[in-house]
Amino acid sequence: MAQKEDFEIIIIAGVAKNNVIGNKNQLPWHLKEDLQHFKELTFGNPVIMGRATYLSILEYLGKPLPGRTNIVLTKESDNKPGFIFVDSIPKALETAKKHGEKVYIIGGQSIYQQLMPLADKLEITHIHRGFEGDTFFPEIKADDWLEIKTQDCKGEQFEFSFSTYEKRPSAIKPNKKGMFITFEGIDGSGKSTQIRKLVEHIFNKSKYHNIILTRNPYKNVNIREILHQDQDPYSQAEKLADLYITDRINQTKEIITPNIEKGHFVISDRYKISTIVYQATQGLDMQSLVNKQSILPKPDMTFIVDISAEEAQRRMQNESIEVRGKEHKFEANLEFIKKLRENTHKVKEVLHDEKIFIIDGARSRDEITKEICEIFDKEMENLN
Ligand code: ADP
Repeated sequence: MAQKEDFEIIIIAGVAKNNVIGNKNQLPWHLKEDLQHFKELTFGNPVIMGRATYLSILEYLGKPLPGRTNIVLTKESDNKPGFIFVDSIPKALETAKKHGEKVYIIGGQSIYQQLMPLADKLEITHIHRGFEGDTFFPEIKADDWLEIKTQDCKGEQFEFSFSTYEKRPSAIKPNKKGMFITFEGIDGSGKSTQIRKLVEHIFNKSKYHNIILTRNPYKNVNIREILHQDQDPYSQAEKLADLYITDRINQTKEIITPNIEKGHFVISDRYKISTIVYQATQGLDMQSLVNKQSILPKPDMTFIVDISAEEAQRRMQNESIEVRGKEHKFEANLEFIKKLRENTHKVKEVLHDEKIFIIDGARSRDEITKEICEIFDKEMENLN
């Protein structure tokens, strides 16, 4: 199901000066203003609580909190009427989404700890006194949370304040894995042009996403030397395959995997399909090139920008040598590029479990961008 972007997760808690939130499954203080505040904020919305909080509500009220969908996160579900029992955080949030635009997380300690990274806002009643207790609120890190509102109050026995915190944009970590997108195609096909357009598209969709660009060859200077010094497109196939694959394994370890894990978008200009197609065109066995790279992470989607060898050459001839660099080994040979294109069309069969889109690159830049962005948006929706 697509993520509902405007759904808010709010943590609400009363917290003593020493971070205590509870003692022997009860609130350590009695503060009617806070009970009133809690009711005003949460009324009409779903609430999520853990087992201990559920039991304490049962003991205190003998029934669910009225006017709210009471969701209990627990491995041992009961059948008390008026409560919804779920056994995972995603299920709790899905249930809450069906019952409102926002959800209040009402405790206790372990539920707060687990939901703190996902929460958008904190509504904290700071009690300006320490209390004895056995459960605590997690640290509210100033790097992650910005106090946007606070109201100081005087109670009968102690002072307290109602504070609202918002998560700082820099602390928003996507709770999903990032996405890995690769572009393939012969030099001059328009890959770099389309990568820039896709970056713009992703960036405009969500301002909090990081986009990491990388290209092949990654670091190995020997590869570039061979490409520029050796003009025979059919020579040094084995050596190039090895160099490229080793280089790509490093790229995966250093750039691709860590960034996907951080939830970033990683876009690579060329990836394993280049080695499969170029070195197969040089005469190596296509399937064994596939097998040798099977340990590499699979892209979430690959765009092959497909144009004729002649058109690619025409486009590159319009560029200055400073932009493109010297012509090299492969692209200078029209016959080689024609074979390469034929092999490119076979790659979907050998990588049958990957999402590969062959894009007609002989159209205008905008037409191509439109198609790529539409595919991207659709795939994003499916992945969410
Ligand atoms: P690649 O990264 O695949 O080598 P580029 O994006 O650098 O390709 O494009 C090669 C050349 O062709 C560039 O000069 C670029 O401006 C031009 N170009 C890119 N896309 C198109 C297009 N759809 N129509 C005409 N020229 C294009």
